[in-house]
Amino acid sequence: MKYGAVKNYINGRFLDAQTSNYLYVVSPVDGSLLSQVPLSAAADLDLAVQSAKAAFKSWSNTPIKERVQVFFRYKYLLHQHLDELSKLIVEENGKTYTEAVAEIEKAIELTEFACSLPQLIAGELLEVSKGIECRTEYVPLGVVASIVPFNFPSMVPNWTIPNAIALGNCMIMKPSEKVPLSVGRIAELLKEAGLPDGVFNVVHGDSQIVEAICDHPGIEAVSFVGSTKVAKIVYRRATYNYKRCLALGGAKNHLLVLPDAIPAMTAANITASMSGCGGQRCMAASAMVAVGDVNHIVDKIVEEAKKVVPGDNLGAVISKQSKENIERYIASAERQGAKILVDGRNITVTGKEGGFYVGPTVIDYVTPDMDVAREEIFGPVISIMRANTLDEALAIENANPYGNAAAVFTQNGGAARHVINNASAGMIGVNVGVPVPREPFSFGGWNESKFGVGDITGKSSIEFWTKLKKTTTKWNPEAGVNWMS
Ligand code: NAD
Repeated sequence: MKYGAVKNYINGRFLDAQTSNYLYVVSPVDGSLLSQVPLSAAADLDLAVQSAKAAFKSWSNTPIKERVQVFFRYKYLLHQHLDELSKLIVEENGKTYTEAVAEIEKAIELTEFACSLPQLIAGELLEVSKGIECRTEYVPLGVVASIVPFNFPSMVPNWTIPNAIALGNCMIMKPSEKVPLSVGRIAELLKEAGLPDGVFNVVHGDSQIVEAICDHPGIEAVSFVGSTKVAKIVYRRATYNYKRCLALGGAKNHLLVLPDAIPAMTAANITASMSGCGGQRCMAASAMVAVGDVNHIVDKIVEEAKKVVPGDNLGAVISKQSKENIERYIASAERQGAKILVDGRNITVTGKEGGFYVGPTVIDYVTPDMDVAREEIFGPVISIMRANTLDEALAIENANPYGNAAAVFTQNGGAARHVINNASAGMIGVNVGVPVPREPFSFGGWNESKFGVGDITGKSSIEFWTKLKKTTTKWNPEAGVNWMS
C-alpha cells in the first residue's frame, strides 16, 4: 500500500476514524493498492460538526474582505503545488496528467471567483420613506456539508469550498470513497493559507455517512454532486430534515450535428467531449443526433476516435466494475441492432495490465429505445442516432430525462438559436462540445440532472450559501437635538 490509511480531518488535525471498517483504494492506472479509506462512524461526523460549529462563531464574524485573503493565498498554493496535486489525481482517479492539470487550473479559477465575492455581495440600501431605511445583507448559514463524486477529486470539491467558506460558512466535506486522497492535500493547503482550524473538516465514508449528514441537526445545508439515483436520495432526505439542499445528478448530453457543421472541428470536438476523462464527465457527449446526411462527419469522428489511445492520451476508468459495466453497454447495443464503428472493448495497456481501460467507442444507428441511448454509461462511448429534421432531433433530446448539457454544431445562427431556445438542458454549447460555463457564470443542469434551486458555482451559488437579512431602520432626528447643536 503506497499511502497509509486515510484519516479524517477535524478541527485542523488528521484523526483516525472511530471504526474498524475500511475500504481499499485502488489506482485505476495499474490496479495497485494505494490506500484504505475509513467508513467513519456517526460519532466522527458529530465531532466534525461540533468543531465546525465552534469555529463558525469567529469565522462568520470575520469581515469577508479578510476571509477572502485566505483564498488569495490558497490560489497561490494551488499554483505552487500544481504538479504534485495533478499527479495525485492521476494516481487515484486514472485520468491523464494533462486532464489532471486542467482540473487544478479550474480549481484556481473557482478560487479566483471566491476572491471577488466581496465585490459581488455588497448589499442594498434605500431610504424608503423619510427617515426610514431598508438594507439587505448576505449572512452565512452555519455548518454546511458538501458530498462529492469520484470523477473530479479536486475540482468538484473546489466547486463548493472557496465560495461556501468565503461567504462565512464552516464546512464538512465528504469525499468519494473511491478517490479520498486529494481532499487531504486540499485540507493541508487551506491550513497553510491561514484558514482557522474547524472551518474546513473532512469526514470519509460511503452511503451511511451521507445519510448521517442528511440527518444531523447541526448541519444547515447539503450540497451533493453525483449520480441521479443518489441525488434523489440525498435531496429527499436532507429536505425531509428541513435542510437546504442542492443535488446535482447524472447526465446524458445530446450533441446535434447539422449537415453544414464544419467537419474537422465538429469531429475533433465530439471525440474530445466523449472520450476526455475516459468519458467520466457529467458534461461528456454521450449521444449524438445526426440531422440529415452527416456521414462525412461520422467518418471523421471514426478517424479522430482512432487517434485516442488508452494509456496514452486516454486515461483509465475508475474501476474494474466500471470497465465491465461499460463493455456490457456496448454489447447490449450490438445485440439490439446498432453498428459498432469503433470498439473499445477488451483493451489491455502494455506495462499497465492491471489497469482499467476502455478504448474510445463509436456506435452508429442507435435508436432512442436502446439502453445506450437511454442510460448514462459514464465511459468513452458515443451513441449516434439519426433524425431527418432539427425538430425531430430536438424531440429526441427533450425526451431524455436528464438536462445537464446539450450542444449543436452548425454554421447557421438561426438553427443554433432554435436549439438554444428548445433544448431542455441547463448548459448549451454552440460548436462547443463541453459547454462548461467559465466563472463568473454558474454551473448547473436542469431536469433530473439537478434538484434544488440555484447553481453550484458562480453568482448563482451565493444565494445557496447565504440567507438574506433585511433590516428596516428608523431614527428620530429630534432625539439627538440637545447634544448635536
Ligand atoms: P455516486 O452517486 O455513486 O456517488 C456520489 C457520492 O454519493 C459519493 O460521495 C458516495 O459516497 C455517495 N453515495 C453513493 N451511494 C450512496 C447512497 N446510496 N446513499 C448516499 N450516498 C451515496 O456518483 P459517482 O459514481 O461517484 O460519480 C459519478 C456520477 O456523478 C455520474 O452520474 C456523473 O454524471 C455525476 N456527476 C454529476 C455532476 C454534475 O454536475 N451534475 C458532476 C460530476 C459528476
